[in-house]
Amino acid sequence: MTIDLRSDTVTRPSAAMRAAIAAAEVGDDVYGEDPTVARLERRLADDLGFETGLFLPSGTQSNLIALLCHCRRGDEYLVGMEAHTYKYEGGGAAVLGSIQPQPIVHAPDGTLPLDALERAVKPDDPHFARTRLLALENTWHGRVLPQDYVVAAAAWARGRGLAVHLDGARLFNAAVASGRPPRELAAPFDSVSVCLSKGLGAPVGSVLLGDAALIGEARRWRKMLGGGLRQSGLLAAAALYALDHHVERLAQDHARAARLAALLHGLDGIAVAAQHTNMVFIEVDASRLRALDAHLQAHGVRASIGYLPTVRLVTHLDIDDAAIEAAGAAFRSFAA
Ligand SMILES: *Cc1c(COP(=O)(O)O)cnc(C)c1O
Repeated sequence: MTIDLRSDTVTRPSAAMRAAIAAAEVGDDVYGEDPTVARLERRLADDLGFETGLFLPSGTQSNLIALLCHCRRGDEYLVGMEAHTYKYEGGGAAVLGSIQPQPIVHAPDGTLPLDALERAVKPDDPHFARTRLLALENTWHGRVLPQDYVVAAAAWARGRGLAVHLDGARLFNAAVASGRPPRELAAPFDSVSVCLSKGLGAPVGSVLLGDAALIGEARRWRKMLGGGLRQSGLLAAAALYALDHHVERLAQDHARAARLAALLHGLDGIAVAAQHTNMVFIEVDASRLRALDAHLQAHGVRASIGYLPTVRLVTHLDIDDAAIEAAGAAFRSFAA
């Protein structure tokens, strides 16, 4: 069995999750007739303190639709230079929405400094795009954003007449790690996107939360983008199963990431740069990346090793204690 540390998206549905999928009551969700999708949307809206929600095929589509709802052609959103909604979504907001991103350099803790945000807001002048939205991400590179920062940033944005969106792909990791209810983390935002297919271990799906007006518009965009699904209760059933069974256990993923970081600490040629929630970042000399990749693969370990010296290792549902020890041993034999 491969020890796959590339991402928490690689999990496969368990037998119990597959049983929940098999038992799902379904209907045509484009007609609004799938009771299981409706239950998932209601459940997350209630848990996170929103009026309503919308089930979507992916986090990328969920974030894109949120941007399309908040911004019009020629508007801009303030976003982290290393945020998923800026860097890792194919430029979708610009390509499909004519929305301009205004990237902001992150502080080391992942926050976007308020003075930098203030400088980036454009005056009402035809030279500039209209600044409409602040988009944050929690967790960011596994880090939980300080909640006092989130509250202050949202208050600042409101004062400037901006809406506030959260890419909460891993909001439940942030909640479990911080001990704060997900609802508290979501409270400062007009819209929140959560992924079911990351650490929660569902095979497919994200949910966008907001008020009825925003979600009504989101429903139109979803259809336009080809994200209107039919008997998607099969997928929602997996997501509901994940919410019932896979939230508290995220603490195990976090503990295993900490254990992995401890095992890698002090190994020759490998520097542990950071460990937060379920992610470990290591720095490896660029000249040794290919050798490390080959060595790990020969020992049944997979990691996302590209051409950059920073390598991300991610723990998840399909990584147990023995897998962590085996991965640590593979790194140790490489360093030796
Ligand atoms: C994975 C991820 C997304 C996008 O989700 P997909 O379902 O892969 O499209 C968005 N934001 C963050 C922070 C993510 O990690």
